[in-house]
Amino acid sequence: MYNPRFEKEAFKKDVTNNIKTLFRKELHEANLQELYQAVSYAVKEAIIDDWIETQKKIDKEDPKIVYYMSMEFLMGRALGNNLINMTAYKEVKEALDELGIDLNMVEDQEPDPALGNGGLGRLAACFLDSLATLGYAAYGCGIRYRYGMFKQKIKDGYQVEKPDNWLKYGNPFELRRPEYAKEIRFGGNIRVEYDDTTGKTLFKQENYESVLAVPYDYPIVGYGNGQVNTLRIWDAEPIVDFQLESFERGDYHKAVEQQNLAKTIVEVLYPNDNHYAGKELRLKQQYFFVSASLQLAVDKYMKSHDDIHKLYEKATFQMNDTHPTVAVAELMRILLDDYQLEWNEAWEITTKACAYTNHTIMAEALEKWPIDLFSRLLPRVYQIIQEIDRRFLIKVREMYPGNEEKVKKMAILRDGQVKMAHLAIVAGYSVNGVARLHTEILKKRELRDFYEMMPEKFNNKTNGITQRRFLMHGNPLLADWVTEKLGTKDWITDLSLMSGLKKYAEDDVARAEFMEIKFKNKERLAKYILEHNGIEVDPRSIFDVQVKRLHEYKRQLLNILHVMYLYNQIKQHPEKSFYPRTFIFGAKASAGYVRAKEIIKLINSVAEVVNNDRSINGKLKVVFIEDYRVSNAEMIFAAADVSEQISTASKEASGTGNMKFMLNGAPTLGTMDGANVEIVEEVGRENAFIFGLSSDEVMNYEKHGGYDPYEIYNNDPDVRRVVDQLVDGTYADGDTERYRDLYNCLLKSTPYDKADMYFILKDFRSYADAQEQVEKAYRNKDGWAKMALLNTACCGKFSSDRTIQEYVDDIWKL
Ligand SMILES: *Cc1c(COP(=O)(O)O)cnc(C)c1O
Repeated sequence: MYNPRFEKEAFKKDVTNNIKTLFRKELHEANLQELYQAVSYAVKEAIIDDWIETQKKIDKEDPKIVYYMSMEFLMGRALGNNLINMTAYKEVKEALDELGIDLNMVEDQEPDPALGNGGLGRLAACFLDSLATLGYAAYGCGIRYRYGMFKQKIKDGYQVEKPDNWLKYGNPFELRRPEYAKEIRFGGNIRVEYDDTTGKTLFKQENYESVLAVPYDYPIVGYGNGQVNTLRIWDAEPIVDFQLESFERGDYHKAVEQQNLAKTIVEVLYPNDNHYAGKELRLKQQYFFVSASLQLAVDKYMKSHDDIHKLYEKATFQMNDTHPTVAVAELMRILLDDYQLEWNEAWEITTKACAYTNHTIMAEALEKWPIDLFSRLLPRVYQIIQEIDRRFLIKVREMYPGNEEKVKKMAILRDGQVKMAHLAIVAGYSVNGVARLHTEILKKRELRDFYEMMPEKFNNKTNGITQRRFLMHGNPLLADWVTEKLGTKDWITDLSLMSGLKKYAEDDVARAEFMEIKFKNKERLAKYILEHNGIEVDPRSIFDVQVKRLHEYKRQLLNILHVMYLYNQIKQHPEKSFYPRTFIFGAKASAGYVRAKEIIKLINSVAEVVNNDRSINGKLKVVFIEDYRVSNAEMIFAAADVSEQISTASKEASGTGNMKFMLNGAPTLGTMDGANVEIVEEVGRENAFIFGLSSDEVMNYEKHGGYDPYEIYNNDPDVRRVVDQLVDGTYADGDTERYRDLYNCLLKSTPYDKADMYFILKDFRSYADAQEQVEKAYRNKDGWAKMALLNTACCGKFSSDRTIQEYVDDIWKL
């Protein structure tokens, strides 16, 4: 599409000028970082008119606005993505070429804004892209962490965490908005006052600490439509007036306290993925951004409307997991205390404005705040939750008279804890899971009591990903090929059109082109691996890839045990033909997750042994890519032959990595878990490699206390061998203790955990068989090309555009 807003010569002049005004330099004197800044400011200038126009349009048309509330936005780099969505990428590349500047090198200067852990944060980012592209008015609401996800270094095979100072050089795309700052209060006590004139009871917070929440806006450019939405993330600053006042009163302590609170609150993103740690600072972060976002949203509404009772007609708050769930009580507080509404009025508005997305069924991920901590930090909000709970339990008792078991199971406040998921379900008008299987498990098991009481709230929204970033930007060769074959670019905003590629699965020439593109992308990744790992990998080998957060349930351990098994096979049967394979891993472990870090070390130890064994002729290579993040992910997906999606069935709510691989033509090797089920449904079972226990089987074993891994260990000599190799020093320079914990967790029960609770040994044989099928299938070049191409052709369902349209139609009703 030709972009009428883009003028090449003017753009070149802008860049040259920016170098001058920002750095007092001539273009040829500028370094790459300076060029990145100059180019980005020029791009921002091109965005800004549309940004202003979008705001004007929203003010004029007064649509319902979606507030997507999320602790995490894993945005990835902005420059390239903005250019793509402005439909100016190629023109800017040319313009810079003419100035002797390589756009790719400039893009590489941008730090990844890593304000998220993994799938949940990336989903939020994909949703913002789709909302803008579909032309809906939406804000992302979150936190401007000073330090995002840590940078991962591998030292001696171990993960080492380094701070991610992503704002070091400033961010050209952000805009500070001090005029929208809000005060946020913590702690203290609530004084109850009776107002004689109005007859109202007033609740006054006293002796609190407070910080100023200051928003920073980031443009979210829709594809080719001029829509520019806003990601609004909050920074914390000390409240200056208070500080002066305190100093004058000689209250040095108070002033320093305010300083410290402001500094710590947005200091760093918690690096836990699918795990609840219960830290006070985390609850402060949650309330901080939720309160600020809600206050501003209510202000915005009241600026152009006079009836607060209709707030839900113009604003809807989607809570990305339970992390922002304090929103329902905070909105009640604003309506009750600031707007003096009656309880029932406030409750009607809140329960028509808030909706909840569930992301996990794993017990260790459920947020349950200790009541003493919660009530001390948020005394007024806690009072409100008590009242919500009290009224809810009256309903439960009405519906299930005499059934105190139900009350126990469903209460929001119980066992000294605030159960955030229960609060979200009770106060939300919608509860959605993120893949069909996940939603069914929620309804049948985890949230069954709630589903029985309020079935109308429950719905499924299978996750999706944006093809703009994960195909156009990450894999331009394939993107161009798709456009050529379909004869249109419309797939960029309508991924269902990809089905038009199916016919090319039968076309020799098209298949060859498709595989040639895959090969080029593998060469690009091989170059990256050589530069970053010093390991030479053969782009003709099978690139078998598992990239995602490191977690026991995702079973990277199963993958590496299988690599150990293959290595044993090759050594034992050097005469047997073996198709060369490269196993590629990328994963960050939460800094405090000891076992996950042991698995990283094991992967690197196996890599060390296998990669340096000349006797196997390079048939097997293992690569651990350091610092897995959105920018290198884009390149990795494009180069993958095999997509490893091997979570213990029932544990992965959806997965979105699986969809990015599929889009890029990599068949899934996976369990029937999360969205894998729907991927197989779209592409056909014959175009995937499915193995392992079903979710029903897993849940059945769990109900009966697990299974006995010794049954397998004792009867399968291949399994026994690799498990024993964890403690015979093979991969630990003779140290028999280094991997003892991994050995134990596979075989021994503890008072806390069942033996092999993720069914690794149970699924091992079936996984190894599936891997054998992969090798066999890959040897058949035509067959493989067809399968890979069909994966790309059948991925239409998994665009986040489709997901967002479903949220719009079924939940938000925009
Ligand atoms: C998509 C994505 C994820 C999520 O991957 P899963 O395999 O679904 O867990 C995590 N991190 C990054 C950088 C991603 O792009």
